[in-house]
Amino acid sequence: MEDKLNFMPDDEAGNFVDFDFDELLQARQNWSNSLMARLYSESPKSALQIRNAIRFVWGTHSRVTVLPVDNGNFLIRFQDPLDMRWVLTGPWSIFGDLLILQQWNPAHDLAGTVLSSENFWVEKINLQPEHLNRVIPSRIASVIGPVLCIKPYSGIPFNNSPVMARVSVNIDESLIQDTWARKLNGGWATIYFNYLALLHNFCTLCCMIGHVQERCLNIFVNNLNPEHDPVIRYNFSGLTPDESEDNS
Ligand SMILES: [Zn+2]
Repeated sequence: MEDKLNFMPDDEAGNFVDFDFDELLQARQNWSNSLMARLYSESPKSALQIRNAIRFVWGTHSRVTVLPVDNGNFLIRFQDPLDMRWVLTGPWSIFGDLLILQQWNPAHDLAGTVLSSENFWVEKINLQPEHLNRVIPSRIASVIGPVLCIKPYSGIPFNNSPVMARVSVNIDESLIQDTWARKLNGGWATIYFNYLALLHNFCTLCCMIGHVQERCLNIFVNNLNPEHDPVIRYNFSGLTPDESEDNS
């Protein structure tokens, strides 16, 4: 198959327009404040629909341009870089679907960017006092995915605000709901994860984003158990997790 991106035109092939690389680099600089976006939806939307929806949801005053990309993604250009940085504090939902966003590196090919992760704030429920320090909440959240930061920074709840972690979540997999964590008395506690702002089409049966449980096919395909077992990653030497010790 012909490589459409890297072929060399020959004189008989028809018209072609050549440029200086400097000229092209300069033009591409206009796109340095841009995000790649993917709407996690079963029904495709046009660039115009996306633009109108994000202008309504974000309410940004400066200009926002939306460009469709061959692979179904969109390139969103921001006139004001501050708007772009603020938008990256998402996740965002438009048309009831999750909009995945990632800063675009202009050195990368548009169609070559794969978007399958989004950063969520995750609250951890049932942490024990011995789990509350600078390091342990982050290690517990890392069963979900790469942890970007925790808050409060100390890992100690502050003024009733719980300990939360900003985690990069793989949207193409089931969202992990809980894990066991070793306790000081040698037993194990089940720590539950609460994904904040998870307003998007979310299936409580297979724990995936993109559909609701009434339309879930995965439960039959994978024979998943809705009461799925907690994931164990921190299996330190010693006792095996025992459900009878949960929450004890
Ligand atoms: Zn499902």
